[in-house]
Amino acid sequence: MSTKVALVKGPELLRYSFPAPHPMNSRRVESFYERVEELHKEMPDAFEIIPPKMATFEEIALFHDPGYIEFVKKKSAEGRGYLDSGDTPSFPGIFEAACYVVGSTLELCRAVLSKSVRRGFNPMGGLHHARRSSASGFCVFNDPAVAIEYLLEVAGLEAVAYVDIDAHHGDGVCYEFYEDGRVVFADVHQDGRTLYPGTGFRHERGRGKGEGLKLNIPLPPGSGDEEFKSAMLEVKGFLMEHEFDLVLFQCGADGLAGDPITNLRYTAASHRLAAEVLCDVANKKCKGRIIAMGGGGYNPENTAEAWTAVVKTFVEKP
Ligand SMILES: [Zn+2]
Repeated sequence: MSTKVALVKGPELLRYSFPAPHPMNSRRVESFYERVEELHKEMPDAFEIIPPKMATFEEIALFHDPGYIEFVKKKSAEGRGYLDSGDTPSFPGIFEAACYVVGSTLELCRAVLSKSVRRGFNPMGGLHHARRSSASGFCVFNDPAVAIEYLLEVAGLEAVAYVDIDAHHGDGVCYEFYEDGRVVFADVHQDGRTLYPGTGFRHERGRGKGEGLKLNIPLPPGSGDEEFKSAMLEVKGFLMEHEFDLVLFQCGADGLAGDPITNLRYTAASHRLAAEVLCDVANKKCKGRIIAMGGGGYNPENTAEAWTAVVKTFVEKP
């Protein structure tokens, strides 16, 4: 008996692609779609395919500053220059592409809340560096952050858990909800002293109502599956001490060996383990509700392998 998984699939998500030689390009998602297609043929009942959907201005404004949204719209029409100090270029249509990423993650939220599925995946989601009023690190709109606001403010959930295993620290989510007592945050990443964005240290555990609700686990460059496993078991223990109504999972594939811009050495076994652990946690804590987002990963072979491991686990785990 398999679990039906909602998968966002469609050419609109491939529009979020910066001009060559930028590492964030559509090939990373295409290679995953090719791989998951094989799995879908083997298990025809495994997926509920959800077409990408654009988020509205109002939805994006649940998290982002309206002036910033207007800025992105203007830069998109101009189609050149940068949205930040030099990591995130503009191109014609980047506004619409970014709206599709956010809207697709929100579609998964609605699918899971309506109880038609318990688990979902948006391969282009997880743009965790964008802040309320700025682009950062290839990220225009922060879809997990918009989803958090949507789940808490529109859907009325009391609390959500956000778990991030991308090689880069999820600074946009961490700091924008640092004092929020409704956001349980755990992030395993390459040590900020050796990688962008340079943050996410052990002593950063939240402030005010968020005190003790943020867990940052930096790993030294060169860390592999063994180091990741210890970190993930610590994340599990931390999550089990808290209460939440849904798990958001940013499963960036840039921690796999062979990624061109990071220095970790995981294999896809780490992604499988993380998905297993988080399905268990979600089953115990929040009726099994978990939404995964692809995040980073700049070697298309790795994104195909790691993300397919996540969705396969979602299908196979009770
Ligand atoms: Zn990353």
